Parts: sequence; C-alpha cells; structure tokens
Amino acid sequence: MVEALAEPVPEARSRPRITHERAPVDLARAERAAADMLAALGLPIDSEDMFETPRRLVHAYAEMLTVPDFDSTTFSNAAGYDELVLVSDIPLRSLCEHHLLPFTGVAHVGYLPGERILGLSKFARTVDFFARRAQTQERLTTEIADHLQERLEPAGIGVVIEADHTCMTLRGARAEGARTVTAALRGRLRDDPKTRAEFLSLTRDRAVRR
Ligand code: ZN
Repeated sequence: MVEALAEPVPEARSRPRITHERAPVDLARAERAAADMLAALGLPIDSEDMFETPRRLVHAYAEMLTVPDFDSTTFSNAAGYDELVLVSDIPLRSLCEHHLLPFTGVAHVGYLPGERILGLSKFARTVDFFARRAQTQERLTTEIADHLQERLEPAGIGVVIEADHTCMTLRGARAEGARTVTAALRGRLRDDPKTRAEFLSLTRDRAVRR
C-alpha cells in the first residue's frame, strides 16, 4: 500500500549555487601553442610590440571562456502572479564555437510564473552562465530556456536572442549589419497563440526601436 504524501510546502526562498564542471586549463601550454600559431601566420611575435601577444591572447580567451558560477535565487510566488514577466535587452557576449570569434547582442527572457519566481537579476546571470563558453546561438537559446524550465517549472517560458556574429560580419560573407534571431518557447508561451503572440510582439517591438 502506498501512503499518500502531503503536498510539500514550497520554501519561501531557495538559493542553490549553479556551477559548471570545468575541464582543466593549461595556460603555459596554451601560450606556447598561441606563439606557434601566430608565428605560423607570419606575425612578428619576436618584436617588442608583439612579444606579449601570445600571453594576452590566451588570457583573453581564458577569461571569455570562464563560466561564472552564481546563486539562483527563487522565491515562492505567494501573490499568485500569473501574467507575463519579461526581462528584455539583457546584454549578451559569447564565442561562436566554429571560429572562436565573438558574437554579441541581447537576450529577452519572458515567463509565466508557476509556484516559484526568479530574482530579476538572475536572468542576466543565467544568460551569462550559458554564454561564457564556446557556443552556437541556437544551443545557447535552448539551454537558457531548458534551464529556467527545470529550475522554475513555470507555466511557460520564452527566450529570444538577437546577435551579431563577427565571423559573419568581419570575414566570410562580410554581411555587415546582419542580425541573427533565435527563439525557444516552452509551455503556454509555445502552445497558447495569444500568449505566444504577446511575448513575440513585445520582443519584436524592442527590436524595431533599436
Ligand atoms: Zn562562427
């Protein structure tokens, strides 16, 4: 016989640390390899001006690829707020995994709260947590949505990212001004046409204003 369990009472505040398992980093080896690569590309790395460049390059990449841990604070939705919460224009910096060149832009995150609400500053932390690694914009969008879905169990969640990829604007197609937009929608933000339209029009209005 299975005993019926009482409904768990949601904690008023929960604050787990969100961390990322890091692969070991060998800066000395990376500096030697960077010096080799730059020399092989014909750059005068023995010159006074570029002598320090391999070290700077490696440290710049190490910094851009260090995933920042953060405390993901949620609160019980005691007031029962059930309308859309939209945090827009969250600055975004990432590195495309195909060229290791930066892509930058903004993320808009909206959700319909369930039993928990997320501290507002944590949306930017969540975006940065998934952006500070070698990424594709598509995967970044999905990972943010999936993480917040799991963490908050909201009635719906939507993530829209607009970004400029320097691998497309500075090289290759040199498509200056081209902007890539991706979206990941879950729950009612995907399935309810009215809510979906409201969320997408709010994020689109912002895109037009820029
Ligand atoms: Zn690229």
